[in-house]
This record gives sequence, structure tokens and C-alpha cells, in this order.
Amino acid sequence: MTANDFRGAGRVATRPIAAGRRLLLAASAVPVAVTALLFISAPPAHDPPAYLDLTDLAAAADPLNAGSAEDGPHRVEVTVQRNDTLDRIFRSVGVDIATLSELRRLPDARKAIDLLRPGDIITLTHMDGALQSLNRRISDTLTLSVSRAGGGFAVNYIENPLEVEVAATRARIDSSLFAAGRSAGMSAETIMVLANEIFCWYIDCALDIRRGGEISLIYQRKFQDGRYVSDGRILAAEFVNQGRAHRAVWFESADGAVRGYFTPDGRGMRKAFLRAPLDFTRISSVFNPRRLHPISGRVRAHQGIDYAAPTGTPIWAAGDGRVQFAGRKGGYGNTVIIDHGRGVTTLYAHMSRFGKAGRSGRSVKQGEIIGYVGSTGASTGPHLHYEYRVDGQHKNPSTIPLPNTEVPTRYAAEFRAKAGAALAQLQLTDRGQAEIVASR
Ligand SMILES: [Zn+2]
Repeated sequence: MTANDFRGAGRVATRPIAAGRRLLLAASAVPVAVTALLFISAPPAHDPPAYLDLTDLAAAADPLNAGSAEDGPHRVEVTVQRNDTLDRIFRSVGVDIATLSELRRLPDARKAIDLLRPGDIITLTHMDGALQSLNRRISDTLTLSVSRAGGGFAVNYIENPLEVEVAATRARIDSSLFAAGRSAGMSAETIMVLANEIFCWYIDCALDIRRGGEISLIYQRKFQDGRYVSDGRILAAEFVNQGRAHRAVWFESADGAVRGYFTPDGRGMRKAFLRAPLDFTRISSVFNPRRLHPISGRVRAHQGIDYAAPTGTPIWAAGDGRVQFAGRKGGYGNTVIIDHGRGVTTLYAHMSRFGKAGRSGRSVKQGEIIGYVGSTGASTGPHLHYEYRVDGQHKNPSTIPLPNTEVPTRYAAEFRAKAGAALAQLQLTDRGQAEIVASR
């Protein structure tokens, strides 16, 4: 495939670029071009996250498990339900409950044993109710293993590290950014980061993305025991839209003080406010201070933006702040107002219901779900009515300038070095040359 193949004028391609071929570079992050170890393969694209089961391993190491017969240890796998306790689990499985207090006395294991989350899987082996071993996954990379040893129990934490690869991919946008990303093998999460943390800050992704726009990406993919687990961080990205190229690169300073996505010249991608506080399908009514009311024919300002979206679509806090109001508010229906400080407030109306973060007095972070799209109040169909006010004055949230952050001067050299390497790799991908160069 050459660059010209997919840049051919007027072609309405439905197939994603590079969907079937993927450039995988075995390297941690940067400099990718130098340490590239290349192989091209069909993407193991949509493998479910691997579940690590070390039970067999533990069983094999356990001499009691080596014997095969029925009178050997019983192995039981329990999925933790809401409100489960270990006491209850032990009882239901028929394991001697006295063992539990013994386990809880183990200083290394106590915390990890009792922290139960619904969906967790705990594997127990026992002989006639006498516990032999208990295994549970603590995190993606850590498993707790408790097994009988001598007169007591031995506690082990088994690490199972993730292998990180750097992958390059490209996609052309035929319908939506989401569809393009999915067809190019990106996880939904990666696409959301691409939209929410990188590009939709300064491109209104809903209004401005045109057919034929292209995304190039250098990003991490995580594997465990050779199986795809999840996408990792996006390291660099380019979005060519209506002839304009927008580029962004991940930067984290060695001391950790600066981290985030920046333009190649060091301006931050993140703004204090989201351009749009939801993933919406279309804008049904734009900000218009002199709108003629459809019924009365009189000028009645539309002081916000209406985003049409299906009922139940999550609505995000546009910026960090504190929920000033959450409740019913006349024609607005179910409404949340967030105070962001410095005189800025945002208002979200017609919600079907409130989100976890949509409670009066609660402090919220940008992107937290405060409610869900609905049609409560004076509304003719499901949409979000969104207002942005500065000192009580309505502003157009889709055009107000949102301030950027910058890489501080004393990190400029470090930024140039790190960002330069990632951007160089991105450029190769962009030109369709990455595979050729990298295989040398
Ligand atoms: Zn409205």
C-alpha cells in the first residue's frame, strides 16, 4: 500500500487504512526508530483482556495436588458477588471457617485477602474442608497466593509483568472518529483518549471532522504471556483534517512534574474545559443570542448549545469544579450547575437522571459523569442543553477561547529530546514508510 492508494482524490473508502497490517515495534517508548525490531502480523485486535489464572501453577507446585485421585484436594473457583464476605464464601464452599482467622493473622496477606470486589475471582483448594491454598488476583500484574506450608501458611505475591509494545496504525475517517479507530484496531479507550485528551480540545470533533480526515498513531499495546491485554498510552498522534495537520505528543518529565499531551512546539493539549460535555450525535441548536422563537416569532436568545444524543448518553463535567445545583429547575428539567471558580459556571439541562458525580456540593473532576441525556422539562426530544457563563454572562462554549498550558522553560530541552523521537516515528508512519525503514 502506498500513500497514494489511500489519498486518492474523491475515493470514498470504506476500508480502514492499515486495518489488516500493523507495524509492531518492540521497544519501550522512545526512541522507537532506533531500537525497532519489526514484525508485521495480523493484529490480535479484539482479544478479550487476558485473565491470568495461576491456579494450575500453584497446584503443580503443591505436592498435595500432584496426586490425581478423587480423594485429592478440591479446587473451587468463586466469583465474588456484591456484598460477599470471605466468611460467606468459605461457608458456601465448605472450607473450615477457623482457617480464615488464621489467614487474617498473616501480616503479609491480611489486606489483600479481605479486600473483595464484585467480579473478583478467588480460587480455593481444600481437602475435606481443610484449606490448602487460596489464590486471588490483586491487579493485572499481581496475584496473591497463600498455601499451606508446614504448620501454617506461606504467602507469596506472584508477579506477572505486562510486555509493552509500540504499535503504529493509521485510519481514515469515513463516518466517525470512533468507527475509524475501531476498524484500525484501537480499543474504545484509546479512541476516547484520542478524542477527549488530544484532538477534540482544539478541533470540535463533532462539527469539524470531515470525511477523509486521517489519524496516524504511535501507541502502546500491552501483552501478558503473549496475549493482548489492552492498549497502553498514545505516544504520538497526528490528525489531518481538511488539509490541516494537527499533531500531539505525550511527554512526561523525568521528575514526573510535567505530564500530558503537547503540540510539537510544547503547548498543552488539555484545556480547563471540554469543548463538548458529551459524545453526541449532532448539534440540534447552536448558540444564538438573537434566535427567533419558533412559536412566538419573537427574538428569544438561545443561551446555550443543544446536543442531540440518545437518552442515557453520559454527560461529563466540562471542567473541574463543585456542583452548585443538582435538581429540578423549571423548563430546564433535571439540571446540574457546576461552579468552576473564577466566575465560570456551566449548566446541563433536560437530564433523564443524575450521575454519581451529579450531587449538590460534590467536587467534580473534568470528565466525571454528572448525568445522562434525557428530555425532562421543556424539551421536545432527548438532548443536552449546555450553557457556559462567565460572571453570569452567557458565552458560546463552542467558540470561546480556552487557555492552553505550556511545557515550562526548564523542561524545554528534555521535551525536545523525548518528543522529537516520538514525532520522528510518527512521521514515518504518516508517510507510509515506517515498515520499510524499520525493517532495515
Ligand atoms: Zn437549548
